[in-house]
Amino acid sequence: MRTIGLIGGMSWYSTAEYYKVINTEVQRRLGGHHSARLLMSSLDFEEVRALQLCEDWAGAGELLADAARRLEGAGAELVLIGTNLMHKVAGAVEDAVSVPLLHIGDAVGAAATAAGYRTVGLVGTRWVMAEAFYADRLARHGITTVVPAAGDQEMIDRFIFDELTQGVVTDDSRRAYVRALGSLAGTGCDAVVLACTEIELLLSPADSPLPLLDSMRCHALAAAEAALAQDGTAGAAILQDDAAGTAPG
Ligand code: GLU
Repeated sequence: MRTIGLIGGMSWYSTAEYYKVINTEVQRRLGGHHSARLLMSSLDFEEVRALQLCEDWAGAGELLADAARRLEGAGAELVLIGTNLMHKVAGAVEDAVSVPLLHIGDAVGAAATAAGYRTVGLVGTRWVMAEAFYADRLARHGITTVVPAAGDQEMIDRFIFDELTQGVVTDDSRRAYVRALGSLAGTGCDAVVLACTEIELLLSPADSPLPLLDSMRCHALAAAEAALAQDGTAGAAILQDDAAGTAPG
């Protein structure tokens, strides 16, 4: 089993879910008392958030790259960034280590393809919805993305940072998200990607007018698969492709 290195704390509410899903999957696959070999570098999210708000992406890249280096130094054989948004600086992290970075967009793209989805709604922080870095990664898998209207993007981003990343889950935000998902249903999406790792704490499939793909779950399951993969299998291929910087699939 390979040792997973998780850059977490963004926020710690979703990092706790990563830890649970990765270990549950490793135990399901191996049985008995098996659990994941996992190292974590859990950042202070206040510091990360300050860099986001002043759009200091170079500084954020250095912070995450430093965490990745320390994980590699401690024995991590693959690295995960446990948030969608901070994949905006995935390049800096990749450049900092010699072990592969398992990109959340590749995990989501592979899961979307496996489910037969071609067009997905993208719901996450404002940079994930408004910029190209995340949609482009899904496009490598042949997935087309649709984003909510500007007003809904603002509302979705606001609830993420005012509530979800602080551990607050309310009926008001759930109702607002369900309404926004209803609007996406009218645009021809096959499914909606919850492209923020905390949204699954708010929304369950039963709430949604469209099938949901939870990015945290896709990423955590892909990490467990990659950690357990033998050379030459699908999980190992994800790591190979990532390490080579080429598009999987
Ligand atoms: N966890 C969120 C995401 O998946 C947002 C928190 C962050 O800013 O990283 O994008």
